[in-house]
Amino acid sequence: MKPTLEKFAPSFIHKVLRQYPWYMFMIIDFRYTFKTYSDNILDFYGIWNYECPICHSHHRWERHGTYSRFLILPADGLFREELMDILRLRCTSCGHTHAILPADVIPYCIYSIGWSKTVLIFSTFSFLKSLQL
Ligand SMILES: [Zn+2]
Repeated sequence: MKPTLEKFAPSFIHKVLRQYPWYMFMIIDFRYTFKTYSDNILDFYGIWNYECPICHSHHRWERHGTYSRFLILPADGLFREELMDILRLRCTSCGHTHAILPADVIPYCIYSIGWSKTVLIFSTFSFLKSLQL
């Protein structure tokens, strides 16, 4: 019988936590982007509907502050750097904290998905153009 990822995921998470006690799991909310993050996540004071990646409990969150990070986004053929606030939530069940990221932010990376996509397209066109010479 082939092993499934679900069977090994909890042990993998605990192995990572033992190796990197500073490691903070992030939750990516794919419903929102950099533009809609502030209105829908930062300014939201209702009940959060996320599942804790550590203990898998729902609705047991409390706000645990914010931190600032830079993000590079594509803008009119150029790039712009934005400073954005990221919300951290603490699971009241297990005590771990988690940052909530929008869909276009890559964890631990200053470059956004849009920037990566733009660079990939530009590189592909440049490569194809070089083949025609
Ligand atoms: Zn938890």
